[in-house]
Amino acid sequence: MIIELRDAAMTYQSPDGEVEALRGVSFGMEEGEFCSIVGPSGCGKSTLLGAIAGLEQLDRGSVLVDGQLVAGPSARIGLMPQRDQLFEWRSIWGNVTLGLTVQGRNTPERRERVRELLARYDLADFAHRRPSQLSGGMRQRCALIRTLATEPRILLLDEPFSALDYQTRLNVSSDIYRIIREQGKTALLVTHDISEAISMSDRVIVLSRRPAAVKAVFDMGPLRALPPLERRDSPAFAGCFNRIWKELDLYE
Ligand code: ADP
Repeated sequence: MIIELRDAAMTYQSPDGEVEALRGVSFGMEEGEFCSIVGPSGCGKSTLLGAIAGLEQLDRGSVLVDGQLVAGPSARIGLMPQRDQLFEWRSIWGNVTLGLTVQGRNTPERRERVRELLARYDLADFAHRRPSQLSGGMRQRCALIRTLATEPRILLLDEPFSALDYQTRLNVSSDIYRIIREQGKTALLVTHDISEAISMSDRVIVLSRRPAAVKAVFDMGPLRALPPLERRDSPAFAGCFNRIWKELDLYE
């Protein structure tokens, strides 16, 4: 297994008191798998991603990546945040190579690889433009390429499409899915959108209300073989949606 959580628990200490975010979260992911995490708002989804990324420290339990205990941030893991966080004062090229520069790994080979990614995903002609000159979908592709530039093996995506309108979301999630598959990455997506989770994942992990624990895990079965938009058209989609919906404690 490339990611393994064992009984992960974490409580935030804040001036207003303690907030128990994770309680006994356990699950594992195989290399190349695409999993989604869904759960009620505020249940601890981002905290969980933070723990895997080595940004949050657990109080109990463990996170293993490649069989090694996660003790802090690592180049093996790339994070794609809610907003694309492209800097307007830098060109697209300046943005997608930023991670390499920050990590001191901006070598000619890596720059060449970034050039290839931009060309492959239809962004080569926009390398000298500014982020505001690109569509929402193009910006998301840039954000993903910026993350891929540092060559992580695992991608953690925290509601990366939440700022996009519904129609754009469908296309962008489909593009991002294709890129992640073609690049052979292991991906873990946090989303509040059950349809999005079904359309992109091999498995969907449902978390309980806070403190988060794994409530159920759904394998997408035959849907796994289909790309996102075709999954949405499949007769199996609605049944899958209902099973996940019933597990989610959205209202109480
Ligand atoms: P989700 O991503 O599922 O919406 P989060 O992981 O962001 O949930 O947060 C889980 C809980 O922990 C929430 O109640 C949130 O308010 C709280 N929380 C998140 N970050 C902090 C922090 N730095 N200090 C205190 N409480 C926090």
